[in-house]
Amino acid sequence: MGPIRIAVVGMGKIAHDQHLPAIAGNPAFTLAATVSRSDSGVDAVPHFHTLQALVDSDVAIDAVALCTPPQVRYDLAALALDRGLHVFLEKPPGATLAEVDALVAHAAKASTTLFASWHSRHAAGVAPARAWLADRQITGVKVIWREDVRVWHPGQAWIWEPGGLGVFDPGINALSIITHILPAPFFLAEATLEVPENRAAPIAADLHFRDSRGTAIHMDLDWRQTGPQSWDIVVETADGTLRLANGGAVLTLPGETLRHDDHEYPGLYARFADLVAQGQSDVDTRPLTLVADAFLRGKRLVTDAFFD
Ligand code: NAP
Repeated sequence: MGPIRIAVVGMGKIAHDQHLPAIAGNPAFTLAATVSRSDSGVDAVPHFHTLQALVDSDVAIDAVALCTPPQVRYDLAALALDRGLHVFLEKPPGATLAEVDALVAHAAKASTTLFASWHSRHAAGVAPARAWLADRQITGVKVIWREDVRVWHPGQAWIWEPGGLGVFDPGINALSIITHILPAPFFLAEATLEVPENRAAPIAADLHFRDSRGTAIHMDLDWRQTGPQSWDIVVETADGTLRLANGGAVLTLPGETLRHDDHEYPGLYARFADLVAQGQSDVDTRPLTLVADAFLRGKRLVTDAFFD
């Protein structure tokens, strides 16, 4: 079998920064087409303004990587699955949980691979953190995810709209890590979401979870951070403190610090190639469920208007 002929759909920041280099660096894939309403394609690669135009063309593809905002991802994924294509979903996998469930059933019926990617789970420190925590007694967890939205999401109107998640767009990365490394399931106890009066999505959130053993998990999300940015997870255990810094890239355990090069997107594409080869899907909706629960149960505070 030759390389997987993949089309990248939604040629924005993450498509250019991460998907194109990861595809170019993995011989299991070849970039067969790009799709975007704008002309932001790649030299010598066929470019289409809609996915419909691509699937109706004579350009042969086996898979799509959907890098659009989540609000428009379901229809694209459903079209791709209808055509028997394998589908790589950027995070979050959809704008609602029910639409992701529908895609899982659709992929099973079509016998194609559906991959809900969580890039932060492939950060260098995450797998060793999970292994270290597996049989340890955890006494408390703190997540601090504070960044400057003006730096990281300039001009992204969709992120503030319903389905765009607001501060949970980065926050769901932290949830993707802790749902993966903490051995016991956890759930929301209480939350406060701060929503600017001129926006639909939160700019900050304070979340209290507890796990099935009663351990407290606190999460502090804020998009108003200036100066140093924080993407930190601290897990207290009976054997000392585990710290994951820089979004999971740097792991500190009692007595040692582990740093490795970034391999999040190469890791995602290696996983996608394996899933396609094995005829399997991988869709874990736990991070999105926790966000949905925060919207369901959280207290909403209206705060000052936010302007880019
Ligand atoms: P982005 O820069 O806004 O790019 C998304 C692209 O999707 C746009 O350039 C746009 O290209 C296309 N698009 C199609 N329909 C759209 C619509 N209705 N509204 C807006 N754009 C539309 O966003 P991004 O930062 O790449 O994020 C895309 C997804 O990747 C999000 O789910 C995000 O959570 C995830 N992600 C982002 C990052 C990051 O660091 N930015 C990291 C990891 C994951 P056309 O106008 O040409 O169609």
